[in-house]
Amino acid sequence: MLRQGSTERPYSSPLLKEHRKGRFLCAGCDLPLFSSTTKFDSGTGWPSFWNHFPSALKIVTDRSMGMVRREVRCARCDGHLGHVFDDGPPPTGLRYCMNGAALAFRSA
Ligand SMILES: [Zn+2]
Repeated sequence: MLRQGSTERPYSSPLLKEHRKGRFLCAGCDLPLFSSTTKFDSGTGWPSFWNHFPSALKIVTDRSMGMVRREVRCARCDGHLGHVFDDGPPPTGLRYCMNGAALAFRSA
């Protein structure tokens, strides 16, 4: 899943209900990507964040499925993580919509 750029079914990730303090790591290479303090409930069924750790992500233009979207990849291993949209909460206004299967959680 990590390499194929596919999207998991909504509400299928156990990380949706992960509300402990900690960090979300890349499932492929363990790079810390997101802090639990930037996680929010977007109502989409996918784990969502409004910010990420510096230099953790790489954004590439995704023209699949007849849409132009911004794909989010791990900056270190290039694994597909999800997409980023402009309808997130303040202060960034961004919504990093992640595949739960691409993340691993480590509590603080
Ligand atoms: Zn990675």
